[in-house]
Amino acid sequence: MNLPLITRADEQGERIAIVTADRRFTYSDLLHVSGQIATQLLNGASDLQEQRVAFLIPSGFEYVATQWGIWRAGGIAVPLCVSHPRPELEYVITDANASIVVAHPSFAALLRPIAEAASIRFILTSELLPAQIAPLPEVDGTRRALILYTSGTTGKPKGVVTTHHNIQAQVTSLITAWGWSPDDRILHVLPLHHIHGIINVLTCALWAGAECHMLSKFDAEAVWDRVAEANLTLFMAVPTIYAKLIAAWEKAAGDRQIALSQACAGLRLMVSGSAALPVQVLERWQTISGHFLLERYGMTEIGMALSNPLEGQRRAGYVGTPLPHVEVRLVDESGVAVPPGTPGEIQVKGPGVFLEYWQKPEATAKAFQDGWFCTGDFAIVEQDCYRILGRISVDIIKTGGYKVSALEIEEALRQHPDIQECAVVGVADQEWGERVCAALVLQADRDLTLEAFRSWAKEYLAVYKVPTRILTIGELPRNAMGKVTKPAVAKLFDS
Ligand code: AMP
Repeated sequence: MNLPLITRADEQGERIAIVTADRRFTYSDLLHVSGQIATQLLNGASDLQEQRVAFLIPSGFEYVATQWGIWRAGGIAVPLCVSHPRPELEYVITDANASIVVAHPSFAALLRPIAEAASIRFILTSELLPAQIAPLPEVDGTRRALILYTSGTTGKPKGVVTTHHNIQAQVTSLITAWGWSPDDRILHVLPLHHIHGIINVLTCALWAGAECHMLSKFDAEAVWDRVAEANLTLFMAVPTIYAKLIAAWEKAAGDRQIALSQACAGLRLMVSGSAALPVQVLERWQTISGHFLLERYGMTEIGMALSNPLEGQRRAGYVGTPLPHVEVRLVDESGVAVPPGTPGEIQVKGPGVFLEYWQKPEATAKAFQDGWFCTGDFAIVEQDCYRILGRISVDIIKTGGYKVSALEIEEALRQHPDIQECAVVGVADQEWGERVCAALVLQADRDLTLEAFRSWAKEYLAVYKVPTRILTIGELPRNAMGKVTKPAVAKLFDS
């Protein structure tokens, strides 16, 4: 049996699949070039038999053709992150035990030495591709397709393995829930080593027979230009990107602001996820674009699990209800389901849930309880909607016998007129168990004393939730996805 993604693309023929800054590529182009790449990867063999192929290619047609080429040759795609330094790339290539590394020429100097040192076959995307496409293997959906490396809060990143069936389930659930159709045109601005960019945007678009417009990297002005020009229908991003787009819009001249806001009206849906969407960002974005962002919750290991509705009421600060074919429950510390109104850990079951952590059977076994994946995220159901309280390991702070949610405190602190951004962490403390601490990025030329801050915060938060230490910093530490790295924030309070 051939992969449905491929057979569906075949039906699209000469319709446009990928649009980059300088070219438009049809589904036929994608099938042809990915067939050539598969032939090159196979190098005379009949099937890669789940060999890992690591690849580092900027966002664009070559990235997609390579990913499809790996799948069509029977390999497992291991996308690398374009902004990672050498040790992190080396770790992924070694941990995945990749047998081939494919690189864009701009990364040759970085990757060739790693490949050579480990005697791994090294291919540049500039190499001439075979003219003839060899017979390609039949790839069954139960085979492993993708390994995405996800950093936990402790230890080295783990490789999350999904099969073609897992990907199909993740994609079809979103296609149904968000009403994807071949008429959609989405602007892709996200990193392509992460589930959000790979599954929610790229693979959903290509599964639906839609157009995926790709920017080689995120740039707020370039995004606004494309929104204004490209007649798009969909946009998906992380909260940091929306914050940057808001800042760029605010800097624009009045007539450009009007034009950009009008261009947003042509889109049918704008989605936010991968980190908590500050209500302020949601509200500001609504004023600018007219869109009430659809917030959803998901994770590399499970795909997307919870979403506000496409039609019907979306609630600010909430992530909605389970997506099609996804079962979600909240449990207490002993694994017993909790009733609505009581916080608990999110557990997820369904065909989209990953197969395993790559070569880590113990970690895989530990991550499941009676067939449910334990996400490590804490949430509560209020009026039938889920509200995310944060990651148990870093966002749920145990202070003076109370359990408090860092996300809830951050949401309150952002209402302070002098606070631009903030990150709340728990720091070990003899007296309190953990002390609530806040790293603050202030508005330009503002100053805030702990005393003034605390007396303001007590108006908004129960006193035990009010941070007892604050630190003013220029910028919050973030990872390649734009998510605040809480362990790095906690370190700031070490001294
Ligand atoms: P990743 O596997 O990198 O996509 O990270 C998944 C994690 O991001 C989840 O376990 C949550 O902690 C967090 N996350 C994703 N979506 C949301 C959301 N809408 N609100 C709050 N946290 C989120």
